[in-house]
Amino acid sequence: MKTLAFCLLFAVSVAAAQSAATDRSAQMPEVGHVSTTNVDKSVDPCSDFYHYACGNILNTHAMPADEIYWGPFGRIALWNDAVLHQALIDAAAKREGRTAVEQKIGDYWTACMDQSAANTQSLQQLQPLLSAVDQMKAMSQLAPVLARIHTSFYAAWEGGDNQTNVAVFGYGPTPDFNNARSVVASFDQGGLSLPGRDFYLNDDAKSKEIRDKFVAYVSRMLQLSGTTAPQADAEAREILAMETNMAKSQMDVIKRRDPKNLNHRMSLAQVKALTPSFNFDEYLKDVHSPSSSIYIVTTPEFFQALDQWIRTEPVDHWRSYLRFHILQKAASSLSDDFVNASFEFNDKQLFGQQQIQPRWRRCVARTDRDLGEALGQAYVARAFPPASKQRMLTMVADLKSALDRDIEAADWMQPQTKAAAHRKLAAQIEKIGYPDHWRDYSSLNITAESNLGNIERAAAFESNRQMQKIGKPLDRMEWGMTPPTVNAYENPQENTINFPAGILQPPFFDADADDAINYGAIGVVIGHETIHGFDDQGRKFDANGDLKDWWTDQDAKNYDERGNCIAEEYTQLVPEAGVKQNGRLTQGEDTADNGGIYIAMAALRSDLMRQGKTLDDKGADGLTNLQRFFLGYANDWCGSFRPEAMRTIVLTNPHSLDQYRVNNVVANMPEFQKAFSCRVGAPLVHAKRCHIW
Ligand SMILES: [Zn+2]
Repeated sequence: MKTLAFCLLFAVSVAAAQSAATDRSAQMPEVGHVSTTNVDKSVDPCSDFYHYACGNILNTHAMPADEIYWGPFGRIALWNDAVLHQALIDAAAKREGRTAVEQKIGDYWTACMDQSAANTQSLQQLQPLLSAVDQMKAMSQLAPVLARIHTSFYAAWEGGDNQTNVAVFGYGPTPDFNNARSVVASFDQGGLSLPGRDFYLNDDAKSKEIRDKFVAYVSRMLQLSGTTAPQADAEAREILAMETNMAKSQMDVIKRRDPKNLNHRMSLAQVKALTPSFNFDEYLKDVHSPSSSIYIVTTPEFFQALDQWIRTEPVDHWRSYLRFHILQKAASSLSDDFVNASFEFNDKQLFGQQQIQPRWRRCVARTDRDLGEALGQAYVARAFPPASKQRMLTMVADLKSALDRDIEAADWMQPQTKAAAHRKLAAQIEKIGYPDHWRDYSSLNITAESNLGNIERAAAFESNRQMQKIGKPLDRMEWGMTPPTVNAYENPQENTINFPAGILQPPFFDADADDAINYGAIGVVIGHETIHGFDDQGRKFDANGDLKDWWTDQDAKNYDERGNCIAEEYTQLVPEAGVKQNGRLTQGEDTADNGGIYIAMAALRSDLMRQGKTLDDKGADGLTNLQRFFLGYANDWCGSFRPEAMRTIVLTNPHSLDQYRVNNVVANMPEFQKAFSCRVGAPLVHAKRCHIW
C-alpha cells in the first residue's frame, strides 16, 4: 500500500551530538529561538532571504559529525531524545513498583543497550530465520518464508513515497480509495534496497559508483553471516540484477503521486491471476490477514513481472536475496561489524553522515519505533504542558477561518466548487500533541534479556495490529507519528491534520515569543498541513476522504494552470546537490508551502486586529510585525543537509530543500517585497507570481 500521509519534511534519521545527557547533572542540549541575532546583515534579503534570516546560525552552528542535517528539526530532536533518554534510564533503574509502561520501556532499553550481548549472541538469535531461507528448496516455498520475514521486522505495512521498503512486496491495510471510512487490504511494489528505482536505472557516473559500492556492501553483509568471499561477491551481483529487474517494473515516483494511478481494485482471484506462481493463500494465512472485500494492487505490472521472476530466477538467487534482506533489516541490532557495514553504506555513502550515532541515541529511536505510545507518555508528561495545546487550538481555528475566507474570495472558482471546498475544510479534524487513548501493549512480551527477540516480537505485534484493521471502519483518531516526533502531517483519507508534541518546541512553537513570530513559525506549519488537503493530490479527495472529483471542469483547469506555475518554478538545477529537481515530484509540498504562509499571514492579521494592532506596527527590535512574521517563517528552515543527503533527497523525496522552501516561497509574495522594500527586478521579486491559495 502507499501510505497517504503528507509530512512537513523529509524524515531525518534522528542523529546525535556527542555531549548527550547520561545522568541528571548533564546539561540539556540547546534548542534555538527566532532572533534578529540570527540575521546576517551582509546579505540582501531581497536577493537571498534564507541566507539573510539564517546566515548567523548557519555560520556558527557547524554540523556535528554524526548528523546528516543540522537545523531546528535536528536540534529539537536532540533535545527530545535527551528527555526520552532520561525517562528510559529512570524506567530501567526502577526496581519496585514499576508501572506496566515502565516495565516495557525500561526492559526494552536495558536489552537494547547491551552491546556485549549484541556482539556475542545476536547472529545466533537470527539463525532460525536465516535457516528458514536456507531450507527453501523450491519456489513454492517462497510465500511462507516471505510472510515470516515480513512479520519479523517493521515495514511491510508501511508504504513509502517510492515503494514499500521490504523484501519483494508490501502488504497491509489501507482506507478504501472509494470509501475511506472502511479499511481494505492492499498490495504494493517493493523489493529494493536502494532509496528508489532511479538508483538502479540512471546511467550517470555517480549512480554507477553508488551501485558498485552497493555490491561491495551486500557482499560484506553476506560474508559477515558466513558466506565465503568469492561466493558473496557473486551473490551480491545477482542481488543487484534481481533488484534492477524489480526497479524496471516499478511505477515511478511521479506517476505514483497521483492516487488515481494506484486505485486498482481486485478480488483475491484477480490478484492470484496476476502472480499465479505465488501462493497468496498461504502468505495471507501466515501474516494473519483477515479476508478483505477488495484488494487494492497499487502496481499490477509489478505483480505480473513478479510471476516471471519466480518462474525464471533460480531458487538459489532468491535465497541470497532474502538472506541479504534479513541481514539488512536486522543489521542495526547485530554485532558491531554489521552495524558498521550498514552505517558505511546506508548512512555515509547515501546520506554523507560522517560518524555513527552513539548507541543511546540509536536505542531511543528504536524504543520510539517499537513502543512509541508507551515511551510517548513519558515525553508528554515531561515536555508538553496543556497550555501548549490550548494555544495551538486557537491558532488552528484562526488559520482555518483564514482559508475559509480565501476560498470564498477566490475569483477562479465557481460557487459549487467553493461549497465543496468549504465542506471539506469544515470536516477536517486537527489532532494536537498525543492520542486521546494510548495503545495497549499488554499482549507484547518485552524482556531485559533479548534485544533481537524484543524487536521481532514488537514487529509481530505491530503486524497483527495492522492486519486486524482490515475489514473494520477507519479510526480517524489513530496517530501515524509518535508524540516526540519532530514533524507534522496531513492524511487525506482521514481528512486530518496532525501535530505531534515533539514539534511544539522552539523555534517552531515558543511560549516566550510574540504572535508575529509564532504565526510565522508554527502558524505556517499549521497552514502547510491544512493546505495539503487542497494541494494537487489532496484536492482529489472529498470531505469524507474519498477519491472523488468535486471540481467542475473549468475550476479543475484553472487549478491546474496555477499548479503548473508552481511545478515549473521548482523544476530547477540544485547545484549543491549536483542534480536537477523535478517540480512535479515536489508540487504538493511546494503548494502547501506556497499557500500555508498566506493563510498564516491572514490569521496573524486577524489576531493582531483583535488586539488593536496591525502588521505594520513596529516592535522593540525596530522590526514590523510582518517582518518578524517572515523571520519566524524562515527560521523553520534555518538548516542544511550534507551534499550526499541532498542528492538522495532531490532524487527520491517530495520535499524541496530548506533554502528553496524559503526563497521560492517569498519570491511569490508582494507582501514580502513590501515588508523588505524590495525593488522590481530583485531576485526574490518574481515577475510571474505563482499562487493558488
Ligand atoms: Zn508537507
